[in-house]
Amino acid sequence: MAAASIDPVPYAPREITVGRWRVTALQDGWLRLDGGAMWGVVPAPMWRPMTPPDDRNRILLALRPFLLRDGEHTVILELGVGDRWGQKELDRYGIERTDTLEESLAQVGVAPGEVTHLVASHAHWDHIGSAISERDGVLVPTFPGATLALPRVEADMVLDPDPIRRGSYRPEDLRTLEDAGLVRRFEDGEELLPGLFGHVLGGHSDGSSVIRLAGEDGPDGVFWGDVCPTTHHIQPPFIMAYDVNAGLSYEVRSRWLARSADEGLLGLFYHDADIAFGTIAWDGRRYTCTPIA
Ligand SMILES: [Zn+2]
Repeated sequence: MAAASIDPVPYAPREITVGRWRVTALQDGWLRLDGGAMWGVVPAPMWRPMTPPDDRNRILLALRPFLLRDGEHTVILELGVGDRWGQKELDRYGIERTDTLEESLAQVGVAPGEVTHLVASHAHWDHIGSAISERDGVLVPTFPGATLALPRVEADMVLDPDPIRRGSYRPEDLRTLEDAGLVRRFEDGEELLPGLFGHVLGGHSDGSSVIRLAGEDGPDGVFWGDVCPTTHHIQPPFIMAYDVNAGLSYEVRSRWLARSADEGLLGLFYHDADIAFGTIAWDGRRYTCTPIA
């Protein structure tokens, strides 16, 4: 597989269909996180050729929400990083606000008011940030009337994180949505909308999930969230140092990677700099990923 991009790639809408859902890749800018942290115990000589770092040892990560439409519901799956960041965070995390969620939505002809539902795999700040905006110094929901479905354990965690987890969450984000009555807590295996299922796995975070799209006559789709942040992370031991429970991560990643290869699941990747959609296969030694769309 080709090495990941070092610099942001211009946004172009890419689309696949899974069962009842038309799935369009959106964009909410870019992030650069420490390569060592993104690769955990994987040695640098192994990960550097796959995801080349910049001169501060950070690798480029996309922030790629997905738009799901079935003619009845207009859903944004994963919400990006948002724009409420100071100079310190912008610099430290290499946040680039090119092609924001609202801009990429506009490019595919969807106004924020048309969005009916939001779904997030977990509540880390780079996954729900754009659900909240600041207007005249006040935090408000970006998509008025759209409920955010979130794993229950994440919703509870984000409001009162312990010291280990605090750096990954912004309680005021979720509190803004809670105050507006716009949070739906879901459990493992729950059907969130017709043909859309939340599988609460844990490992990466307490409620880290994959979101499954029912394929009906074809293969299902799976949104990997941070269970497999990029297509380069698709071997079971390639676990990020951020994960709160590496043993559980190994177990759930092994299970879902095997299922993905067995069933030919259509993968949706959030942080991969280049690949939005890809299918995972097992070649007898390791997992491989073939881009689609
Ligand atoms: Zn995360």
